[in-house]
Amino acid sequence: MKIGIISLQGAVPEHISMTSQALNSLGLKGEVIAVRHPKELTESSALILPGGESTTISKLLKRFELYDPLIKAADEGIPIMGTCAGCILMAKEGDDEVAKTKTELLKIMDMKVNRNAFGRQRESFEAELDIQGFNSSFPGIFIRGPLIEEVYGKCKALSYYENKIVMAKQDNLLGLSFHPELSGDSRIHEMFLKMI
Ligand code: GLN
Repeated sequence: MKIGIISLQGAVPEHISMTSQALNSLGLKGEVIAVRHPKELTESSALILPGGESTTISKLLKRFELYDPLIKAADEGIPIMGTCAGCILMAKEGDDEVAKTKTELLKIMDMKVNRNAFGRQRESFEAELDIQGFNSSFPGIFIRGPLIEEVYGKCKALSYYENKIVMAKQDNLLGLSFHPELSGDSRIHEMFLKMI
């Protein structure tokens, strides 16, 4: 089993090591691979789209011919987790800034995001989050994080920060405003691997 980390820009090494840690904790055999080519994407049993800068990642996804294969993987039921910029890209709808920067969203999750909702006031902060299905709080690290303004259709909220949605799930897809790969806590990656 291969777990693919889309490795174009952003928090790639952190996701690679946290995914390896989660595989170990679950006692699962698997290989974590860096995805830069369509072939690596199609041989992955699950995919992570890291945070970084959403406009840049969107352009690189097109350039590396990973954009359409990602949408296809989502349709086929492959688990995909998008964190921060990755979460922005998974949304069906963005805010004015997404429109202004002509950022092409993958439009695979029934949600609307506000791209820099947490960023303008405070560049970065940490908050203990209650996550549905977890029996203790999770340290959420927000770095110029987006906010999930609205979920609809099959998309459900899993966590809130000050009454705002920061984590959502739609069948095989998981979107997070924060960075679980930086928290030292592998529970979200474990939850994701259990979706395979
Ligand atoms: N808000 C950033 C963007 O628009 C994402 C920040 C992050 O991924 N840490 O791309």
